[in-house]
Amino acid sequence: MTSLDAPSVSFDVVSPATGAVVGSYPIHTAAEVDATVEAARGAGQWWSALGFAERARRLDAWRGEIVSGRVELAHLMHEEMGKPLSDAALEIAMAVEHLAWAARNARKVLGPRSVNPGLLAFNQECTLEYRPFGVVGVIGPWNYPVFTPLGSISFALAAGNAVVCKPSEYTPGVGHWLARRFDLVVPEQPVLQIVTGMGDTGAALCRSGVGKIGFTGSTATGRRVMAACAESLTPVLMELGGKDALIVDADADLDAAAAAAVWGGMSNAGQTCLGVERVYVHTEVYDAFVPKLVSRAENVHAGTGAAKIGPVTMPKQIAIIRHHIEDALARGARAVLGGADTIDGQFVQPTILVDVPEDAVAVTEETFGPTLTVTRVRDMDEAIERVNAGTYGLGGTVFSRRNGRRIADRIRSGATSINAYVAHATIAGLPLGGVGDSGFGRVHGPDGLKEFTYAKATTRQRFPSPLALTTFTRGPATDKIVDRLITVLHGRKVS
Ligand code: NDP
Repeated sequence: MTSLDAPSVSFDVVSPATGAVVGSYPIHTAAEVDATVEAARGAGQWWSALGFAERARRLDAWRGEIVSGRVELAHLMHEEMGKPLSDAALEIAMAVEHLAWAARNARKVLGPRSVNPGLLAFNQECTLEYRPFGVVGVIGPWNYPVFTPLGSISFALAAGNAVVCKPSEYTPGVGHWLARRFDLVVPEQPVLQIVTGMGDTGAALCRSGVGKIGFTGSTATGRRVMAACAESLTPVLMELGGKDALIVDADADLDAAAAAAVWGGMSNAGQTCLGVERVYVHTEVYDAFVPKLVSRAENVHAGTGAAKIGPVTMPKQIAIIRHHIEDALARGARAVLGGADTIDGQFVQPTILVDVPEDAVAVTEETFGPTLTVTRVRDMDEAIERVNAGTYGLGGTVFSRRNGRRIADRIRSGATSINAYVAHATIAGLPLGGVGDSGFGRVHGPDGLKEFTYAKATTRQRFPSPLALTTFTRGPATDKIVDRLITVLHGRKVS
């Protein structure tokens, strides 16, 4: 339900490709956000009481609505943030896979189950279940305006929460579109609501008393969100930035690795949290790999219409991309493709940098543009050391015919895909999330469902225990029995 449509101030959404105003949305104040969350509380109770089966039915119907409107939705994504229509369509396809999984698996993952009480509490019947928080606030980015917010929204809804979502100021129309389609299948209560505005509206959501905030965005904003949530001890899920690497071992399929690096680095104009930004190549194949990479990347052009990549969405990101490229070049790197000169307005042509010092910002900080650094390494030990030296730890890719698993196991990140780029993010049963500066908590899969719940344990005493442990009537005889039991159960020394 899209509420509060008549506040005093609004903001415009500008197409990054054309500069045309493509929408105007309200800037919701803290009071309006609070009122929205208040309305969501009752809706959350109603939604939770529907139970898993009915919620799954409604979520399946929502999925049908999204799929039937996918062409319109893809156009809206294209208009608001600039990605090509085919990429928008792919994003929608991936998002509904996860939505389907969440609806289908919520009961199995979160529903009540009995737990073995153990010998000392054998007279207790134990149940564990995962309960919704009530209202979850979702703050989303613009780069994947369907896939990313839905990663939190679908799972929070499937778990029985109402959701108040604050989409990015660059893609509020996409958020509204999703909520309007939801209203069609859940018309009774405001179970999914959208608030719009800038960072202040997001900060107000953090302070509104929601049960949890699911935040996806940059690491810098994540810190501010956590600080705001700390005031009221509101728990947070942090899906933050990344600086993912792709490793090419000596025995890798070089063509496949080059194709993956180009797609991973350049698609969505490089504006992907899981995007490949660094490539580490075994010295034995480096000289063969770089020309393959460059010749593939040469076929990718940033532009409009049939171009494979669109504009960079945020005007302010251009300065960051330019700085990363120019700083690397000033420090001895070479651009074997593209370069700062190829930046034209908000269009950045694919850029490949070699010989970049490891402490350059192009290697250490998120660039969020269609750029790659390519670095020769002595062996896989050096590659792993360099990959793990970064502060981020979101995903990663390894190309190796024989050693993929051994290399992947040593990478510090939330996920690693072997011989394919970003496969893990497309698989519904697998969690997505990071470590270090990439955040904590998970969306997708069973962990993604549990993320929007709290564990509730219940015990019921079936009959009084002959060993009354938790009472002052416990005497020396009971203590002796417990002592013997503990010795038998746990006292064996392990040599
Ligand atoms: P931002 O951090 O700039 O913004 C994210 C969201 O937070 C936006 O809705 C933004 O609103 C809002 N916001 C801004 N300031 C505040 C505040 N003080 N309190 C609460 N909310 C606030 O990220 P971007 O939108 O630029 O997204 C790109 C970033 O997201 C990249 O770093 C990328 O790596 C990361 N990302 C991570 C993913 C993951 O799964 N780990 C997936 C996708 C992206 P507004 O836009 O109005 O300023």
